[in-house]
Amino acid sequence: MVKLISVISIIVASSLFSQFSTPLEQSNYSRLTTNTELVKYVQSVAAPSQWIKMDTLAVSANGKIIPFLTISKGKSNNNIKVLIFAQQHGNEPSGKEGALLLLKDIANGKLDEILENVDLYLVPQMNPDGNDINARRNGHGMDLNRNHLLLTEPEVIGLHELYNKIDPEVTLDVHEYSPYGKEWKEYGYRKNSEVTIGLMTNPNTDDVLRSFQRKAFIPFIDSYLQMKNVRFGEYTPMGPPNKERMRNSTVDINDGRQSFGILGSFSFIQEGMNGLDSIDNIRRRSEGQCAALTGFITFMNNNADTIRMMVKNAKTTRADRAVTAIQMDHVSDGEKTLKFSSYDGLRDTTIVTANYHTKVVPLLTVNRPKGYLVLKSDTLLKDFLTKHNVKVASYKPAKSDAVKQYWLEYDSSLVIEEFVIPVKSARPQVIKVKALDYLFIPIEQRQAQMLIQAFEPQCMINLLQYERFRYLMKEKFYPILRVE
Ligand SMILES: [Zn+2]
Repeated sequence: MVKLISVISIIVASSLFSQFSTPLEQSNYSRLTTNTELVKYVQSVAAPSQWIKMDTLAVSANGKIIPFLTISKGKSNNNIKVLIFAQQHGNEPSGKEGALLLLKDIANGKLDEILENVDLYLVPQMNPDGNDINARRNGHGMDLNRNHLLLTEPEVIGLHELYNKIDPEVTLDVHEYSPYGKEWKEYGYRKNSEVTIGLMTNPNTDDVLRSFQRKAFIPFIDSYLQMKNVRFGEYTPMGPPNKERMRNSTVDINDGRQSFGILGSFSFIQEGMNGLDSIDNIRRRSEGQCAALTGFITFMNNNADTIRMMVKNAKTTRADRAVTAIQMDHVSDGEKTLKFSSYDGLRDTTIVTANYHTKVVPLLTVNRPKGYLVLKSDTLLKDFLTKHNVKVASYKPAKSDAVKQYWLEYDSSLVIEEFVIPVKSARPQVIKVKALDYLFIPIEQRQAQMLIQAFEPQCMINLLQYERFRYLMKEKFYPILRVE
């Protein structure tokens, strides 16, 4: 009898343990989760739950469903809102698999404690088209993680619609990086962090948030992942340092990290280490991503009130800054230590180099205008403003207004970082306009820093960087006007 009871309890325990096991687990880590399996899985988790809700974020370029989950224990209306989205790049599957493991832990009640002050919005898979053929881009051949300024792709449009609707304090974009490659092999060493996390680097993002990321979050996640036996490092693309300078990524605002950071959210990127191929070492990769996601949510839960206050401030004061950096560069801040492993991963070492450029300095700034004027007949710019939820108004000129138009001189010899800047000089001249022909974009709104960087013709990360908006350079006079 005793024997029988223990057999039954083992069966009960093991069936409880395997409840909501993910498609990857069900395949015993032999096969990545397809979009169809993912949709079915999240439905099966959400259906019986009181506090996990499933909705559709968007339909992909190729017509696949992109689900998102709203996870709220509903204790308070004052929870901090955390938006996590994974796999914008279809050939980086461990973020998605890690997000599904996280969802399993949530459904099994294992993370109740860290969700006390958090409402979680989870998109496990941004790019099902890429996922199903192991490709970086979506069905239109577009890189979703370069589309957050243009907003032309349905997947990214859907994400920004959700962002505008829920107004989250915190965002996290989940990827993978590859430590392999010819140049690293020749160098003999490679990056070895299983999970890296990157912070906001654009100098026009909020200083207080940036400082809290570096001084509070990085030490926390470092020791959290050490405890979980996951090797952590700060997000450091590029290299090797003997060939190319290294930095903490671009200052651009067209990606999943900085497009939300520039609006005043507490925004991050997480990158796990990819395998030799998509399935190689997938269990360890997915569990590492899941551990980092759990640590990330833990930090937001523990610091919910502080972050909510800082973000509220960042979102309301975005428009108050007197100047905006429009050209900037990464520079060396002295010699830095980087942690590498031998190329075969068997021996650890540290490299001291001055070629790790961690500091961003502004090279050119502009003063904040009162607002901008764009022609009502410009349908592409109007579409841009609508998708970014920008407030626009009819233009009612005040007596003190000076409307200025830039006269441009073109010359593509200026290159900063990877950006070719086609406008060499922009001379403002006061002009008279027919107010009725224009839409007025007041700068006093949350999108101020994004708008200034998108519109200023000498900005290195503006709309002129994209084919879609090259028509703005058709003439010597620039059609977007400044009101001062
Ligand atoms: Zn990626």
